[in-house]
Amino acid sequence: MSRPTKRARTTAEGGSTHDFVPLASDDYFDVESREYRVRRTGLNTTFAVPTLRAVHKSDEPWNAATSWAPLDDPEYALDPDGLWYDETLEQDVFSEEQPATTDSLLKKEKKKKSEVSRRPHIIWKRTHRSTYLDEVSRLAGRADFIASTQCPDCIARGVAAPKVPEYRCNQCFLPDLTCKTCCVRHHKANPLHRIEFWNGTHFVQTSLKSMGLQIQLNHASLYCVNPQPCHASMLVLHTNGIHEVSINFCGCDRALPQHIQLLRRRFYPASQLIVKTCATFELLDLLHKFALTTKSSTYDFYRSLEKMTDNTGLNTPKTRYRSLFRMNLQWRHLKLLKWGGRAHDPVGIEATAQGQLALQCPSCPYPGINLPEGWELAPTAESNADRMFI
Ligand SMILES: [Zn+2]
Ligand SMILES: [Zn+2]
Ligand SMILES: [Zn+2]
Repeated sequence: MSRPTKRARTTAEGGSTHDFVPLASDDYFDVESREYRVRRTGLNTTFAVPTLRAVHKSDEPWNAATSWAPLDDPEYALDPDGLWYDETLEQDVFSEEQPATTDSLLKKEKKKKSEVSRRPHIIWKRTHRSTYLDEVSRLAGRADFIASTQCPDCIARGVAAPKVPEYRCNQCFLPDLTCKTCCVRHHKANPLHRIEFWNGTHFVQTSLKSMGLQIQLNHASLYCVNPQPCHASMLVLHTNGIHEVSINFCGCDRALPQHIQLLRRRFYPASQLIVKTCATFELLDLLHKFALTTKSSTYDFYRSLEKMTDNTGLNTPKTRYRSLFRMNLQWRHLKLLKWGGRAHDPVGIEATAQGQLALQCPSCPYPGINLPEGWELAPTAESNADRMFI
């Protein structure tokens, strides 16, 4: 079988080539090259001496134009989400001149970003900063109720003599300024909201307990014929701080153990006989998530709760850190048992086997979950089809 013929070289020696040898570093002004001849031997080509080395002088770094790194622009600090930097990084290294077509012109126009998206903080500072500060400061004062002398809630209910509006809730969606009676009435179902009192010049913190709100447990009507008051120093830890509350346990003929009554209102008791501390389920969930995502300690979490309650440090409630620590441990254990399905086992938690609470690997194949029916009947050659490699 004959080999395909190759084009004959024009010279007996096969001509010469001239290669530039690029250097790895950026700042070289001299480019070295070498020159050599090739010799044809039959169908093969081999390099042959002599080899000439040459140095090409340049006035500027020869490969500066091909650098891929974007320019060190101080305005990248204004890039809100890193998108701007990424776009610059992915741009073509060489800016080759393309003939301007309608499509390319349209694309160019599309890529052009507005100044707001390029420099959001600069625009915000120029046009909105002082307005926003005014609005935030406005909410620190009486806002819409600056000239109100009568409680709007009393007026709406047709009360003959509307009272003076001087209480406001920080958590309610509508920041109404109402009288004490209307404020307490509004918060029967939201006893852990934070209330402010207008003292004539500014707002000061107050509590629903000091305003007369009582929380009744075990009755959806919030009324019991034989209410049993809780311990005088009862504190409830919630996501918005530590609250002094006045809780009434049910003492009528349908009464349950007091700590169970608390659990049924999503209050987790720190003890069982005489309860002085509770944490809401919401708080324990938040603490659990924070511990897993931010790696913050329970101590730091409790400190932030204290700061939310009183940032001056002058009226910090008596510490319940150890109680929170205990509740947190029990809460996480209960969650683990719940996820493990132990609540539905007729034998109970005691029958939990070794390793039964461990989480199943979500990637591994399990019959009935992520394996096709009849997987065990597959021929040996296809038995690896459902195997997962991680
Ligand atoms: Zn009122
Ligand atoms: Zn409220
Ligand atoms: Zn009752």
